[in-house]
Amino acid sequence: MRFWIGIDDTDSVKGMCTTYIALLLIDAIKDFGELIGFPRLIRLNPTIPYKTRGNGAVSFLVDLEDLDKAMEIADEIIKRHAELSDEKTNPGVVFVREDKAPLLRSFAERAIKDVLKIEDAIEIIERHSIPHLSYKNGRGLIGALASVGANLEDFVYELIAYRFPEKFGKPRVVDENSFYELDFKYYPTIFDTVDWCNNVVMAVPGTPCPVLFGIRGENVEILKESIKMLKTEKWDKKAIFITNHATDMHIVEGEEIKEFRSYRVVGRVMKKPYDIIGGHVFFEIGTKNGNLTCAAFEPTKQFRNVVRDLIEGDLIEVYGSVKSSTLNLEKIRVISLAKKFAEMNPSCPICGRRMESAGKGQGFRCKKCKTKAFEKIRVEMRRKLETGFYEVPPCARRHLTKPLIRMKVEKRHVFR
Ligand code: ATP
Repeated sequence: MRFWIGIDDTDSVKGMCTTYIALLLIDAIKDFGELIGFPRLIRLNPTIPYKTRGNGAVSFLVDLEDLDKAMEIADEIIKRHAELSDEKTNPGVVFVREDKAPLLRSFAERAIKDVLKIEDAIEIIERHSIPHLSYKNGRGLIGALASVGANLEDFVYELIAYRFPEKFGKPRVVDENSFYELDFKYYPTIFDTVDWCNNVVMAVPGTPCPVLFGIRGENVEILKESIKMLKTEKWDKKAIFITNHATDMHIVEGEEIKEFRSYRVVGRVMKKPYDIIGGHVFFEIGTKNGNLTCAAFEPTKQFRNVVRDLIEGDLIEVYGSVKSSTLNLEKIRVISLAKKFAEMNPSCPICGRRMESAGKGQGFRCKKCKTKAFEKIRVEMRRKLETGFYEVPPCARRHLTKPLIRMKVEKRHVFR
C-alpha cells in the first residue's frame, strides 16, 4: 500500500538535517518500500520561532509492504541520528495513506502561512487515524503533516549533495569559482547559486550540517549535468528534492496584518525612509488597514539603497514577514512615483544661467545681464527609482521568496 512518510524537527544548530535523515530512512526501507518519485522538501512559515534554520520538513511517497517494520526502522533512525539532546529538537514522523494526503491540504497551507499549535496536529492525526512517531513534545508532527499535505502548484527542484559522516562539522573543501562558473553557464534555469555582487556562494552552507551544497533549478536533467563542473571534496550521496523554494507560498494577500505572517500589501510612503544604527532602513506606509512600519535590514545590503530612494507619496507594494510590528522586506513593487522637487535660484531670462544671491533678503541677480528676481523656484528633479519590482540580493533571500527572475511580471530589477 502507498504511504506518504513525513518527517520534521530532527536537527539542531549543532548538526544534522531532516533531508539527510529522510534519505537514511528511504535507504533503510528500500527492500520492502519502493520510493515513488522525488522526495519533497517543504518550507513552512519562515517566521516560526521554533525553527532551527529554514523551517524545512520532508515527505516522500513509498509503496510499503510492511508499515510496522517501516515504523520500527524510522524509530531506530530518529533515535540514532536526530539531535534529541537539544531542547529545541522535537521530532515527528507521520505515515499517511496516499488517499488521505489531500485531507491535509488546508493544514499544510496554514503551516506555511500561519502559526499552528501541537494540538492542531494531534487533532488531525486522531481524526484521520494517522500512524505516527512522536518524540519529546512532538512539535515536529506539525511539519511532518504539512510536508505531506502541501499542494505544490508551483515548485522547483533542489539537488543536494551530502558529505561523508567523518567530515560533518569540519570546514568544507570547495572551489568557490566553480560555483560562479556554474551560475554563469546555467543561470537562470539554475538560480541563487551565488551572489555576484556580495561575493557569497549561496549553494554551500556554513553550518555544521551534512549538506555539502544545494543547487536549485527548474529542470532535473540540467541540475544533474551542472554539478559535473563543480570542484569540491567528494560527496557521499546526493538526491533531488521537489521543493516550494522560490514560490512565495508563504505570502498572504489583503488581510489584516498579524505578527509571524508574511504579506503582500499596497501602501503609500508616509515619510522619507530613515537609517538607524546598524545600517537598518525604516519607513512607514499607509495601507487600507492603517499604517505599517517596513524595514530593509542591514543584511539586505544594496536593496537598502532602493528603499532610501523612496519619498513621501510613492505608491508601492511591499512583500515580507511581520515580526515586532515591522514588515521585513523581501521585495517591493514601485507602482507610481511621487514628484520630487528641489528649490533653486531662478535662471536669468536673458542668458539662461542660474542667478546668484543679491545679498541677504535682496533676491537674486544676474551680474552680466543685470536682471533680477525675488524668489527661489521649485524645480522637478529626476527620480533615480523607476516603477517596477526590486528585490533583495540572493545572499539575503529567504528560501520561500520568489526571485524576480521566476516572476512573469514586467519591469523587473533582477538582483543576481
Ligand atoms: P532545517 O531547516 O535545518 O531542517 P528547521 O529550520 O526546519 O531546520 P525544525 O528543526 O524543523 O527547524 O523546527 C521547526 C519546528 O516548527 C518543527 O517542530 C515544526 O513542526 C514547527 N513548525 C513548522 N511550521 C510551523 C507553524 N506554522 N506553526 C507552528 N509550528 C510550526
